Amino acid sequence: MFFRPKTKYTVYTYGAEVLRKPAAAISEVTPEIRETAAVMFRTMQLFDGIGFAGPQSGVGKRLITLMVPGPSGGAVSPGEALLLPRMPLAIINPEIIAVSDVTDIVEEGCLSIPRISAPVERAQFIRFRALTLDGEALECECGGLLARCLQHEFDHLNGILFVDRLAKEVFRDLEPQLQRLQKTGRKKDFKKTLTV
Ligand code: ZN
Repeated sequence: MFFRPKTKYTVYTYGAEVLRKPAAAISEVTPEIRETAAVMFRTMQLFDGIGFAGPQSGVGKRLITLMVPGPSGGAVSPGEALLLPRMPLAIINPEIIAVSDVTDIVEEGCLSIPRISAPVERAQFIRFRALTLDGEALECECGGLLARCLQHEFDHLNGILFVDRLAKEVFRDLEPQLQRLQKTGRKKDFKKTLTV
């Protein structure tokens, strides 16, 4: 019989300090960075997310893992055409170079803010730049869910959460739930874990 040690996968939740600290750029993709990306992929998959950023994994590094589904049909942006077939994808040091004036408002959730979702206004299109773990430079214009997901994850790298971007009255309505989440989170050191 073959035994494999169980591994603990952690998501840091609302109230955790690491979620509020700007993450550091990655100067070199070391084996540790690859291992971190692998753990983040697995965590994202276990918790059923489509995007996950270093700080959510307790890692203050500019690393994002993506598993954006689609496209669901219709016209797609060049970025979606390029990147969606390459999911799951890990990117490092992303930059948003430009955002469209056109915005839309879509309901968002976050693995670090479980069971809470709310409408967030964001640019419909972005031009972004990043590197893959193999050093390939990506630069493209994205729309759709991918653009939204990238903006959400990019915010994480700067210590920003989607609840920071809500309309005032929406935030006010959610505040009691967020306070409860923070209170229960504190008892578990702001960690949500799965051991598999
Ligand atoms: Zn999030």
